[in-house]
Amino acid sequence: PLVLGIESSCDETGVGIVRGRELLANEVASSVDLHVRFGGVVPEVASRAHLSAMVPALERAVAAADIDLRQLDAVAVTAGPGLMGALLVGISSAKALATYLNKPLYGVNHLVGHVAVDLLEDGELPMPSVALLVSGGHTSLLHVTDMTRSITEVGSTIDDAAGEAYDKVARLLGLAYPGGPVIDKLAADGDPGAIAFPRGLTARRDMEQHRFDFSFSGLKTAVARWVELRRLEGKDIPVADVCASFQEAVCDVLTRKAVDAARHFDVDTMLLGGGVAANSRLRTLLEERTAAVGIELRRPRPALCTDNGAMIAAIGSEVVRAGVAPSSLDFSANPGLPVSTVVV
Ligand code: ATP
Ligand code: MG
Ligand code: FE
Repeated sequence: PLVLGIESSCDETGVGIVRGRELLANEVASSVDLHVRFGGVVPEVASRAHLSAMVPALERAVAAADIDLRQLDAVAVTAGPGLMGALLVGISSAKALATYLNKPLYGVNHLVGHVAVDLLEDGELPMPSVALLVSGGHTSLLHVTDMTRSITEVGSTIDDAAGEAYDKVARLLGLAYPGGPVIDKLAADGDPGAIAFPRGLTARRDMEQHRFDFSFSGLKTAVARWVELRRLEGKDIPVADVCASFQEAVCDVLTRKAVDAARHFDVDTMLLGGGVAANSRLRTLLEERTAAVGIELRRPRPALCTDNGAMIAAIGSEVVRAGVAPSSLDFSANPGLPVSTVVV
């Protein structure tokens, strides 16, 4: 099917177009520059930016894909999770488009989009599989038995998301927002073994209770304390070493628990998704650790890991193909949509 997907859950306005699992267009406009001085996304600012970016992104996507909108089989849009006002801009646009074209509309789950986007790169996903979803708002391990109907969250963060930890640590080091890409880059010149930061929820007692869950707020506090102490001692902060050691702690825990889950559920394939999946250390360490136990790792290219419209078109295409019923036109945004709901 030819499907157009609209994404507006946070600060990226995305319009993607796919035919089946072939990517035809992926236009992304980010309002991140408007949020930099606030050190985080300002919801009102993001909503307004979506309003002005949406139609131009749509026009660019249609031109890039070289299609006629009337050829579309369906329109898909992020229904949640995300920021209420931001989601509403995409949903209103999608409803207007689908109504005007008289095409079915699918309100889809953003997190499942982060998983489905891999199909555009690597084709059919062997089932069942385990997905490690790491983004600004979420850090979860998912057991996927049917992408369009059955995704079960088997573990998640009990406090901060991995991306959130990156952003907060960047902030306390005085680095730019968003922190993920900045820390990733600085870490390349640092020693990951320089500072022994804690690995949350990996002690034996924690593993009994929280086998596939994550915790990153203790790590963030440990970094803050370490930096504070250095400053009190009047010493310089070895920023690259702090970044590399922090990153190593995050990636060590994420990859250990992901491999543990894959073995527990006896799957042959693991999928890495979400904005933090763009992280260079996470990509290589997970590749090493999955390869060591004979699990095939699938990781979309970094540009498809961060928020975009192609991921929404991708899950839209899958649900159309699977014969899932479209959403009724009166659905609204759901900021807390659970990953188990693929289509609203
Ligand atoms: P969610 O998908 O949970 O709703 P979101 O849409 O805000 O959250 P994404 O766009 O998927 O999140 O990811 C953004 C996050 O990814 C930010 O926290 C950012 O710091 C992080 N990130 C992006 N690139 C990298 C990188 N190279 N290394 C580490 N983190 C990164
Ligand atoms: Mg973003
Ligand atoms: Fe996202």
